Amino acid sequence: MSSAISTQPRMQARRGAQAIVLISVILPPIALVTVMWLAWGSGFGLIDLAIFAGMYLACGLGITIGFHRYFTHKSFDCPRWVKIMLGVTGSMAVQGDLLWWCAVHRKHHQHSDSHEDPHSPHVGRGGRMRRFLYSHFGWLFRIEDPDKSRYVPDLMADPDLRMISRLFPLWVFISMAIPTILGGLLAGSWFGALTGFLWGGLVRVFFEHHVTWSVNSVCHIWGQQPYDSHDHSRNNALVGVLALGEGWHNNHHAFPTSARHGLAWWQFDASWLVIRLMSCVGMARNLKTPSRDRLARAGGADD
Ligand SMILES: [Zn+2]
Ligand SMILES: [Zn+2]
Repeated sequence: MSSAISTQPRMQARRGAQAIVLISVILPPIALVTVMWLAWGSGFGLIDLAIFAGMYLACGLGITIGFHRYFTHKSFDCPRWVKIMLGVTGSMAVQGDLLWWCAVHRKHHQHSDSHEDPHSPHVGRGGRMRRFLYSHFGWLFRIEDPDKSRYVPDLMADPDLRMISRLFPLWVFISMAIPTILGGLLAGSWFGALTGFLWGGLVRVFFEHHVTWSVNSVCHIWGQQPYDSHDHSRNNALVGVLALGEGWHNNHHAFPTSARHGLAWWQFDASWLVIRLMSCVGMARNLKTPSRDRLARAGGADD
């Protein structure tokens, strides 16, 4: 009797959390596709769609392959020109400068889901909704600058990376200028430049922010936990696809230095596919992945 009483509120709370997740993750992509559909032929067309997709992929991969898997976790090696390219395209996603982003993320891994985690939905005041919203984007308004000399001394020692970080406002400007110029040239009109700026610049940044934030919030609440990563990280298939492979987040917390996050054959990981392609043409080498033995010992997915 007493267990039935204590289980019911827990189940209701869980259903409530799932509803929030569904609304906050599924609604924006549906809203975006709906607006694209409604605006088709007037304020949105093939050129805008191509610019949006191209910018989303270029800047998104700059974050996932560059800021995350390369700079933060050192999961592969690459030539200097590729390093600079990854630093610039990651900066163009407008998620903060390179050194700050990596310091925040290393701090997240070091203190995952504890009080020192910059964006955990499992600590802090308030109910589930408040903590979810905090982990999604509220933390951005409260965060104190992480101690860079503690978290990213290796990156700070690289003059290229210090320069890329310092020039962050320039990369933001360029990330807005490219879609504007492309839109104007391809459409041959000022209106094309305006829609290129709106879709390839502003809407792309908004959507990409939301997807990246979902890795911090959704992927620490909802999904499977095949590995014991000593935190609440989860594998979430929807975020896995939208965030170019970053949603296989429990895999990532269990094996942080792996260049591959989708560890099972069915876990689609676009960033890993691109890293493999990069390695074929000499743009990446020494790709780190967990051995079959380590995976088997950890008891999770296999290849
Ligand atoms: Zn995490
Ligand atoms: Zn990470």
